[in-house]
Amino acid sequence: MIYQSVNQLIGNTPLLELKLPVPNNSHIFAKLEMFNPGGSIKDRLGVALIAAGIQQGKIRANTTIIEPTAGNTGIGVALAAQQHHLPVILVVPEKFSFEKQTLMKALGATIVNTPSAAGIKGAIAKAEKLAAATPNSFIPMQFKNPANPQAYYDTLGPELTADLGSKIDAFVAGAGSGGTFAGVAKYLQEQLSQIKSYPVEPEGSILNGGPEHGHRTEGIGVEFIPPFFKNIHIEQIYTISDDAAFTNVSLLAREHGLLVGSSSGAALAASLQVAEQLPAGSNIVTIFPDSSERYLSEDIYTV
Ligand code: PMP
Repeated sequence: MIYQSVNQLIGNTPLLELKLPVPNNSHIFAKLEMFNPGGSIKDRLGVALIAAGIQQGKIRANTTIIEPTAGNTGIGVALAAQQHHLPVILVVPEKFSFEKQTLMKALGATIVNTPSAAGIKGAIAKAEKLAAATPNSFIPMQFKNPANPQAYYDTLGPELTADLGSKIDAFVAGAGSGGTFAGVAKYLQEQLSQIKSYPVEPEGSILNGGPEHGHRTEGIGVEFIPPFFKNIHIEQIYTISDDAAFTNVSLLAREHGLLVGSSSGAALAASLQVAEQLPAGSNIVTIFPDSSERYLSEDIYTV
């Protein structure tokens, strides 16, 4: 197959069974999203947000795309917007990784930083201000746009059942905007009535009602309950410490040759806890959203 554009390389990522000791002789399968061309699960979202905006008439010729993002969505949006020659402004809290911000700029986006202490809510407010001052601009707004979970319902969910058929007992995924978890969980719950779904957050995120504070695990964690979680059956929410996430990142690199980001480490930590609760021999599917390489300046490895 000879591909004709980078967009065609998005999705259909590999599913890897992790050969590590899993409680109750269960099995953990990880969807390796770093194989997308922009390096993360959010390439799927970038194309979907731009396509929906065009279809709804909100994106026209030369519309400036403005989006608040932790980084990976920004890279996905910049990739997709490039195909349509659209200018892109990404509003990023300054704490997010230097590598991700550099990649966004490399793809042609302009970055506006907001103070880390103001969180993603600060980035959202700044994006709205910029849009009000920029004629012919559009904010896809991943945190509210139904095209977000829909992108994962349409692509990632069917890819999982294509690989595993009905042999999926549990789905475990980190939540940032919540689009990945909600879209895939909805698809799998429609296909497989017995499936159990578990979102994952870092300590410092508020899903489980814990106190809000900063965390080193990047890409997941919420400051408000994602609207996409309405009508999705959630078995239990797992709140994972930064230490547990980073320990699993190191273990995956040293013992399994897998270079993943900290949200993948958190997803593995939660999947191992899920395995303890499920009957022996269960099949647990999780998502590894991106690779270690975009966090090397953040001391992702304690080597
Ligand atoms: N992991 C990483 C590294 C991410 O960048 C994101 C997106 N912020 C997620 C997980 C969570 O994805 P979602 O926004 O779909 O919940």
